[in-house]
Amino acid sequence: MLCATPLNSPDFSTLTDRELEVLRLLGRGGSNRQMARWLGITERTTKAHISRIIEKLKITGRIEAIFLANYYHDALCTSAGCTSGLPKGQ
Ligand SMILES: [Zn+2]
Repeated sequence: MLCATPLNSPDFSTLTDRELEVLRLLGRGGSNRQMARWLGITERTTKAHISRIIEKLKITGRIEAIFLANYYHDALCTSAGCTSGLPKGQ
């Protein structure tokens, strides 16, 4: 019997580097305006990236994207020594 998991594992490999970057920033609580500034792109482009992420991961929307970005932080984060992930276990 399989363990109950909160989500079907999303396939992050379908995302481009830029989309992964946007997803990580979403997880950090960035607004479209903040992310646009951080990435040096327009808000319109930021929204387009988010739409593509939602479409590719087959999720319901931005809130779920934020949840995934945090839940799978360790898989997504490329910063060595980053401690911003959710605590795993105790
Ligand atoms: Zn991190």
